[in-house]
Formats: sequence, C-alpha cells, structure tokens
Amino acid sequence: MPALPRFEDVVAATQRIAGHAHRTPVLTSSTADAQTGASIFFKAENLQRMGAFKFRGAMNALSRLDATQRKAGVVAFSSGNHAQAVSLAARLLGMPATIVMPLDAPAAKVAATRGYGGNVVHYDRYTEDREQIGRDLAERHGMTLIPPYDHPDVIAGQGTAAHELFEEVGELDALFVCLGGGGLLSGSALAARAMSPSCKVYGVEPEAGNDAQQSLRAGHIVHIDTPKTIADGAQTQHLGQITFPIIQRDVDDIFTVSDDALVDTMRFYAERMKIVVEPTGALSFAAVRARADTLARKRIGVIISGGNVDLLRYASLLTPAP
Ligand SMILES: *Cc1c(COP(=O)(O)O)cnc(C)c1O
Repeated sequence: MPALPRFEDVVAATQRIAGHAHRTPVLTSSTADAQTGASIFFKAENLQRMGAFKFRGAMNALSRLDATQRKAGVVAFSSGNHAQAVSLAARLLGMPATIVMPLDAPAAKVAATRGYGGNVVHYDRYTEDREQIGRDLAERHGMTLIPPYDHPDVIAGQGTAAHELFEEVGELDALFVCLGGGGLLSGSALAARAMSPSCKVYGVEPEAGNDAQQSLRAGHIVHIDTPKTIADGAQTQHLGQITFPIIQRDVDDIFTVSDDALVDTMRFYAERMKIVVEPTGALSFAAVRARADTLARKRIGVIISGGNVDLLRYASLLTPAP
C-alpha cells in the first residue's frame, strides 16, 4: 500500500495546480448566518473548472507523470465528475485520456467528457467489470490508471480547496465536507489538522449510504450495496485503503442527511445565494442546518463540492410534488 499523503503533499499540490485550477471564491450569506446563528464560510467548488473540486485531484495526479507516462496517456473509469476532470486535465497537459463509462451513461455526461477531449470506451454495467476493463487497457497500452479517490496525489489535490479556505479566512471551529470515497474529506482533513489544529472536521454522507459512518464505528472498511439517493457523487460502496486511515485519524465524526434535506438545501442555494449546486454538493450545508443548535456563534467552513446537475433534473427536483 502506498504511504499516506501528508500536509506537505497538499502544499506541493497547491503550487502544482496554481494557474490551472481556479482559486474559487469563499462566499458568505447573512441569511445562512441568521438561520444557523453561526458565521459560515462557503468554499464554492461548484465554480471550479468543469464544475467540481475533482479537477484539483486530477490535475495534481496527472502533473506528476513523467514523459513516458504522459505519452501513453491515462485511463479512468467513471460516469461522473472524475471523468470530466481527468479529460480536461489530460487535454491541458497534452496527453491522451481514455474514460471507461457504462453504455447507459447519460448522453450529456458522455458528451461533456468527449467535449473535454476524452476518448470514451463503453462497457455493459450488468455483465462487465469496469475496473477490470480499466486495468486491461492500462496494461495493454501502458496507460496510467487514475482512480477517483484512493490515490495519494488525488487526495493531496483535493485537499487544496480546504487549504485555500483556511488561507483566506483563518482558523475555524468546524469544517463540513461531503464524502463518497473520501478523497475530498481526507485531503481536507490533512489541511485542517495543519492549518487550524482545533477545528473539528465532519464528513457528511447520504442517509441511504452511510458506509463511512458504519466504517468509523466498526473500525474497518464496511462495504454496502450501491445506495439509492439523489446524491449521485456519493453513491460509492466503500471507503478506500488510503482514505479510510486518514479519516479514522483526522475526522471527528460523520453525519448523514436525507434526500429531502438535500432538496431544501439546493433550493436555499438557488434562492438565497444565486448558485446552482448539485445534490451531492448540498450535503455539507444540509448537515450544518440540521445541527445549528450546537453551532451558535461558531466559525464554520462548508465545502460546496460541485454544481454539475442536468438542468431538467434540477428543475424537477426543485418543483414541489403536486
Ligand atoms: C466525487 C464527488 C464527491 C465525493 O468525493 P470523494 O472524494 O469520492 O469523497 C462529492 N461531490 C461531488 C460533486 C463529486 O463529484
């Protein structure tokens, strides 16, 4: 198993991705503060390039490849933001990218991945194993496989968002971060432990898929079936071999949020803050709102992880049932 990434790796990643990734704004909202009694600082990764923090990890990991690896290119399996992040980072660095996507992936996502220059290879999700396809491609063509979360360079890259947040607003009492496989959460925790040592770090996952909460309590990685939730960025089945030990060491607790609370929070973001946030991106603030009674007068960081949601789906989620 590779060594766990450290805070120094987050700092190095910050320098490596500077000039490529946006330094996203930190937003505030007097309505959010009034509703919670806290001072909230929102790190708006929905405004990151390609619409999510995933560009940070992909750019950092790809930047570290040597000339031979760059020539052969990279491969990733994903139907979501990781696919677009790897495609865009590869294009910017002038290397080929192959993305393994299910045959029934939404057309918009396939188009977006191709639009960023990714070469899409389809597989049948009911009969084929995407990890095997990815590994075969990597082996046959000498490509480097870039996993979505369980990789030290990906984790260090994801940690740069929290690094920027602490740099900008100083120490915080608590930081809320959503999680699927835990790349963003573990990277954020590395930044928090070094830059704001007394800051509590909380992970937030969907109620239907609380494998990380179960894993922390059990003391080992718990596997679950793909959860049914609107938070598609958090439909992972388990934490990683690298993300789990960091979360165990550096994260204080994991909370869960219902899909209804996610919709309420997406509506809040649209109405009050004028921003489009995808369901997974709404997890962190939904958890803050649910425990506002414990957060009075505290300084709270909230990472908004992304804003990629099909507009028709967005509209239907926000339309109250008749
Ligand atoms: C991938 C993703 C997540 C989950 O990130 P992990 O590093 O797997 O925990 C959360 N939100 C969005 C928008 C994502 O794309």
